[in-house]
Amino acid sequence: RSKFQNIKEKTFAMIKPDAYIHIGKIISIIERSGLQISNLKMTKMSQEDAREFYGEHKGKPFYDGLVNFMSSDLIVGMELVGDNAIKRWRELLGPTNTLVAREQAPNSIRGLFGTDGTRNACHGSDSPGSAFRELNFFFAKTSKLKTQAFFNQCTCC
Ligand code: ADP
Ligand code: MG
Repeated sequence: RSKFQNIKEKTFAMIKPDAYIHIGKIISIIERSGLQISNLKMTKMSQEDAREFYGEHKGKPFYDGLVNFMSSDLIVGMELVGDNAIKRWRELLGPTNTLVAREQAPNSIRGLFGTDGTRNACHGSDSPGSAFRELNFFFAKTSKLKTQAFFNQCTCC
């Protein structure tokens, strides 16, 4: 493969609970980037969903805090399509740690909307394999996501 060849890819993007209030601004950034949103779902993850989604981090010191955070409030999952979508979305995100992002990439999504090390506004798949797994987890008919009923309850009171 030539390094100049663009590869049309899909990636999984997710707005985390600390940033769904910024959904409009985040979607604007996606639109301006030229990536296309080809699927979208606002929902909540159960603790079980979050444990499975972040299974690769099981045993790490931040795992329990991450699972609690990810299941604490609404999230927005999106399928993004475009040339080199995986890398481009990760570049828009900026560094994993919000405090580092604010220093090194203040206009990145994490720099703008993140809170701290764990609460960092958005997720992005890191490889074609993760994108496939995560998109299936979230959007496939056989999705194992335990979508919780929240439609008839206000999330703030
Ligand atoms: P990324 O989301 O940039 O791919 P990782 O896959 O390494 O980062 O980690 C998954 C998520 O776990 C991060 O987005 C962040 O929410 C949380 N996390 C990662 N590393 C730490 C850490 N050292 N301390 C606290 N939370 C962390
Ligand atoms: Mg990751």
